[in-house]
Amino acid sequence: MPRDPRFDILFEPVAIGPVTAPNRFYQVPHATGMGYRRPNTLAAMRGVKAEGGWGTVCTGYCSIHPSSDDEPYPTDSLWDDDDVSALAMMVDQVHEHGALAGVELWHGGAGAQNLYSREPHIGPSSVPTGVYAPVQTKIMDKRDIRDLKRWYREAAIRGKRAGFDIIYVYATHWYLMPQFLTRSNQRTDEYGGSLENRARLLKELIIETKEAVGDTCAVAVRFNASMEGSDPDHDTAEPREMIEHLGELPDLWDITALDYAHEMGTSRFVPEAALEEMMSWVKSVTTKPVVSVGRFTSPETMLRLVRQGVVDLVGAARPSIADPFLPRKIDEGRDDEIRECIGCNICYTGDQTGTPIRCTQNPTMGEEWRKGWHPERIPAKRSDSSVLIVGGGPAGLEAAVALGKRGYDVTLAEARRELGGRVTLESELPGLREWNRVLDWRLNQISKLPNVEYYLESVVDREQILEFAADRVVVATGATWRRDGTGRWHDEEIPGWQKPSVLSPDDVLRGVVPDGPVVVYDDDHYYMGGVIAEKLRGDGLDVTLVTPANELSTWTQNTEEQYSIQRRILTLGIHVKTGTALSEIESGGVIAECIYTDREEEIPASAVVLVTSREPNDDLYTSFRDEIDIERIGDCLAPGTIATAVYSGHRYAREMDEDTSAGVPFLRER
Ligand code: ADP
Ligand code: SF4
Repeated sequence: MPRDPRFDILFEPVAIGPVTAPNRFYQVPHATGMGYRRPNTLAAMRGVKAEGGWGTVCTGYCSIHPSSDDEPYPTDSLWDDDDVSALAMMVDQVHEHGALAGVELWHGGAGAQNLYSREPHIGPSSVPTGVYAPVQTKIMDKRDIRDLKRWYREAAIRGKRAGFDIIYVYATHWYLMPQFLTRSNQRTDEYGGSLENRARLLKELIIETKEAVGDTCAVAVRFNASMEGSDPDHDTAEPREMIEHLGELPDLWDITALDYAHEMGTSRFVPEAALEEMMSWVKSVTTKPVVSVGRFTSPETMLRLVRQGVVDLVGAARPSIADPFLPRKIDEGRDDEIRECIGCNICYTGDQTGTPIRCTQNPTMGEEWRKGWHPERIPAKRSDSSVLIVGGGPAGLEAAVALGKRGYDVTLAEARRELGGRVTLESELPGLREWNRVLDWRLNQISKLPNVEYYLESVVDREQILEFAADRVVVATGATWRRDGTGRWHDEEIPGWQKPSVLSPDDVLRGVVPDGPVVVYDDDHYYMGGVIAEKLRGDGLDVTLVTPANELSTWTQNTEEQYSIQRRILTLGIHVKTGTALSEIESGGVIAECIYTDREEEIPASAVVLVTSREPNDDLYTSFRDEIDIERIGDCLAPGTIATAVYSGHRYAREMDEDTSAGVPFLRER
């Protein structure tokens, strides 16, 4: 199908200094958990995005010097000439598809780790580094400033040699540059004090980089349009003055937010186009092209922002992760097929754990090189086997789509009246509406696959499986929240768990609302405990959230939303008890105990929701295990995240009729 002519404007080339982006789709720098440790993995992943139509594809943060080392988070690096060839692989794969390649040159200052390099941190003033690290920065003297400029220049030249078209000066996210630019800079020389002085180093770096590579490369500056404090007018005043001051120096302004949790907040807290209001003035103070992000998945939003002159280039990290082929789909009039990002930030957990990026919506993300998986292509079937999938949650749905695309005849049976499994239920919880996109995309794909059929309100049991006589049976029946409190802290049942006042998250998801004060006990530590507390508070209940961890939803540090969750819970007036476990459930409440002192207290409640762990629904699988060709996938195999379930379903489909006997199921970087 030809593209809708309304979207033509998105496919116009944009001049960026000496280079020209072939269209307005711009993958802004984003971390990948790959970096210099996994250059093949990285190159293939970025190449696929260029193939999918992103006219510009950037690296993640690329360290320019050992004094800016971020281990255990793997950054890209251009420390010396030996780093050039690794990044050149990425550039080549991006160029192969006609896209521009950009490199985000990064110095973290106090925000780096330097655990690997053991170099002192540097900064304008001596301040504490990292997150509660017992280390302070070395105050940069004039020689250090000269060194920094030299490192930038040398890294820019290496970037040019690697073939990059766009070289960044990275000036936001609380790394070294904002440490100079903001009022936290305590210097009294020409690099501190007045706005002009604080902006001096950035100005010099832009000039330095332009002199070094500006003949053939564009120089971009990544900057924040607001200080994001409590006073919006004041907060944009300084960034505005700075952009006015530097406005025409760079070739491109990449505008974002100072705080990651705002720039890339989860959909639970931050909607699409969230930066628009904060940055819509930028184009009025510079003639240079402007790019900005906002988890744009809707072509209509992209169109509006370009038409209204808010941006020249549509920036994206997560939308390009969830769907590397988003631009091509718009170009080919297939925008209904865009696999929309759900804003869960599982992608960010890769970086946070030092492992390759993964995505809930796109199970091929990070597997392009090591498994040879492509987001849009899948090998044809190798047999005429028919497949029965039991369960239509994320795992079963993904398996159905991927098997269907391979050409297998697939029948999916779902017990409930609607598909989607946990996603359908959980997306009713506060802030999780967009998670339903996991179902939406797969349902749309199934509607285009004549070889995939599904049946609702079909509880499959042993007899039906035998009767159906499919060649292969896949059990995707999910998992059930435990009622007995067994989890991380408690390796056995919590006394009193059989009381009728005890509920599980499944009860709440099915609409049960207690009729009095409730204790939510979170020994799961991801989103569920917090979101159930929020839901029940919204139902008008007095809620106490108890967790053995020292902060709420602690694993969500990895999704960059822990702070937002705790703030919301406290703001809603939910009582919070951290570092506290349940020692017993009584008729009128619970006995809670401090995990450090064993001191006990009684919390009155008419109901207790135990959010601890889940049991796989694997009866069907175990009853057949040795009789027929049967496999389990998703939460039925091992309860986990939605991303894990989707990956599991996809993997099953990819591996069907393939030789999987190799010991290590993926290539490794050596
Ligand atoms: P996953 O995340 O692994 O996909 P979910 O719990 O989201 O797991 O989905 C499992 C789905 O399987 C649910 O929609 C549930 O209704 C369905 N299901 C469970 N048991 C059966 C069964 N015996 N027959 C058909 N569907 C089932
Ligand atoms: Fe979007 Fe979640 Fe995928 Fe990240 S992991 S790109 S937030 S769907």
